[in-house]
Amino acid sequence: MHEIKYPFLNLACENKPYMDELIEASARVIRSGRYIGGQEVEAFEAMMRDMHSAPYAIGVSNGLDALRLSLRACIATGLLAPGDKVMVPANTYIASVLAITDAGLMPLLVDADEVTMVLTGDVVERNITPDVKALMPVHLYGRVAWDGEMADIAKQRGLIVIEDAAQSIGARAACSGLFGSAHAGALGHAGAFSFYPTKNVGALGDAGAVVTHIPELHKAIRELANYGSDRRYHNIYAGYNCRLDPIQAAMLSVKLRHCNKQNAERFARAVAYNNTIDHPLVTKPRIGPTPTDCVWHQYVIRTPRRDELRGFLSEQGVETDIHYAVPPHMQPCYANLEHMPLPVTERQAAQLISLPISPECTSVKDASDIGRIINKFK
Ligand SMILES: *Cc1c(COP(=O)(O)O)cnc(C)c1O
Repeated sequence: MHEIKYPFLNLACENKPYMDELIEASARVIRSGRYIGGQEVEAFEAMMRDMHSAPYAIGVSNGLDALRLSLRACIATGLLAPGDKVMVPANTYIASVLAITDAGLMPLLVDADEVTMVLTGDVVERNITPDVKALMPVHLYGRVAWDGEMADIAKQRGLIVIEDAAQSIGARAACSGLFGSAHAGALGHAGAFSFYPTKNVGALGDAGAVVTHIPELHKAIRELANYGSDRRYHNIYAGYNCRLDPIQAAMLSVKLRHCNKQNAERFARAVAYNNTIDHPLVTKPRIGPTPTDCVWHQYVIRTPRRDELRGFLSEQGVETDIHYAVPPHMQPCYANLEHMPLPVTERQAAQLISLPISPECTSVKDASDIGRIINKFK
């Protein structure tokens, strides 16, 4: 083991700047005697609505549940039917695909755009078939997967758009979504957020949210998340228990206030990396065109000599990670899932390295230093 000089992430250190506010907020919940629902959850939901210029937000248990509830609510309200195809990029965290199959829908896995690594209008255009009824853009690594062409196809074909915004809170698209808002997670019919502790805005446990513009989806999601109950002891759906804990809502009300500042700090580190890294074997992520079209949940480089470069970085004290080493379609649980050839996803999965980018653990200078270490790789 080499001494770690540049840790990838340390969650205690992430929360340290907010310690007093977090302790105060937890004490408030403990004293309130209200441990399910109530004012803390409502205040959190109001913050999410305001942040995203959307009329509805629902606090839920985690990001996977946010996706599952959104898709099941689409079926419950007739926007989608069981067995409908949902186009989803193959280079995503498995939760995106789990939500689709769990809801009784069919994932159409496609290779994302080679450069931006997300779904683009062009990718949708090339892969669309008449049985695709929905799109699930995944704003991977914090980069908004949305453009004018995608908006046009969605409108022309009447596609349902459910965003996986688990990695992209605070990001903004260059053009507005289907309902006016340009905020990631509020571009389509519903957007799913995760506040898993490692995300840009992390709770102190599991938490998630759905943002939507559609009153019927809002109603169905709330009901599905509460045992499928529309009123006390009356269940119209075979639902779930997917409520957001008030204690996590209180933690998030603290953390959300710092979201834009934290994202700006991530951007500064991404710029430092991009200005420093200069190596013929390393492909850097693209910065821009605006400072908020990517909120840099991860800073991911690619190299054909991935394992060697990772080993070299480790020797130099740089801790790295891989997001994600094995794409969903290569997981044992999807051994029988039919899919088209996915050469881009499979090639890139073998080349990815995530560098440290957490605002608290990694300074801008650290990012430049790590960049210079990479440049020495032979
Ligand atoms: C983290 C994540 C999820 C799942 O969120 P959880 O809160 O961990 O359930 C879904 N999709 C993507 C892209 C993610 O990164």
